[in-house]
Amino acid sequence: MNPLRGSVLVLALGALVAAPFVQGEVNVVEKVATDVYFHEGDIGRFGHCNNGWIVFNDYVLVIDANFPSGAQVILPKIKAVTDKPIRFAFDTHHHGDHAYGNEVMHEAGATIVGHAGVLAEMKRHETNYFGGKGPGRWEDAAKNRKDVAASKLRPPSVLFDKQLTFDDGTHRVELLHFGVAHTHGDGWAWLPNERIVFTGDACVNGPYNYTGDGNLHEWVKTIDHVIALKPLKVCPAHGPSGGPEVLANQQLYFKSLLSEVRQLKDAGKTASEVQAAADVIKESLRKNDRIAIYIGQYINAQIEKAWTEMGGAAFPVQQ
Ligand SMILES: [Zn+2]
Repeated sequence: MNPLRGSVLVLALGALVAAPFVQGEVNVVEKVATDVYFHEGDIGRFGHCNNGWIVFNDYVLVIDANFPSGAQVILPKIKAVTDKPIRFAFDTHHHGDHAYGNEVMHEAGATIVGHAGVLAEMKRHETNYFGGKGPGRWEDAAKNRKDVAASKLRPPSVLFDKQLTFDDGTHRVELLHFGVAHTHGDGWAWLPNERIVFTGDACVNGPYNYTGDGNLHEWVKTIDHVIALKPLKVCPAHGPSGGPEVLANQQLYFKSLLSEVRQLKDAGKTASEVQAAADVIKESLRKNDRIAIYIGQYINAQIEKAWTEMGGAAFPVQQ
């Protein structure tokens, strides 16, 4: 999810209530293994992402900090299942619905952890915080969100390049980076003992693929590395949890989208023609039940992304 689109998304999803997309039970704590929890955030009303948390022998590691209001939703739910202190919050990537709750998590006792790319992306986009020119994404988000306006940006202060491991002999969580996907700083939380993966937005279960900060061709390859782990349980960052099919379906959606756009490229179509083919592409994708749920408000931007990655020109601005 893109923090800038948060309010737009709320409106768009409001209009999509009757649309056939996967919707699990939001705001319900799901115990996915002993001491391992998943919580599907209310994206429709509040733009919240999903969270996870793992209760170690003497601390709690939280997956994603959510928006500030999302962090406030899950903190009491974490405290309801354990009295262990919340010591770490892991930003799966830099977007506001995953990282803008960092300050709330910090106030609850957590040190913020992320792939080095999370900090690099924040430095690129949070131009106000880092002393650059003009407002950054935080300030844009704060215009539409009281929770953001009432908090402040807190970048991660513990960074990793490839892997950071939490292991107390009872539980093991490996934070892993496999390359570019949804962003240039995606981290995955892999629990090898339970074969559970928390994916961040690099894998979602529904029409939530914002592609503006990633690379579709790299994304498909990056998911291969996660499939190779052979997870039994997949906890996406938006939409309900599921089995390994969630990863496979996410990957198939992008493979299919790229294939559709590639055919147009090979046929010598222009940017305008590809732009005009959006409905045809949508109908073609919709024929496959495994990927139909991924078609949503971002489809036109996704098609343009695929097209420009293939060397095509940006789509003309539509009046
Ligand atoms: Zn995101």
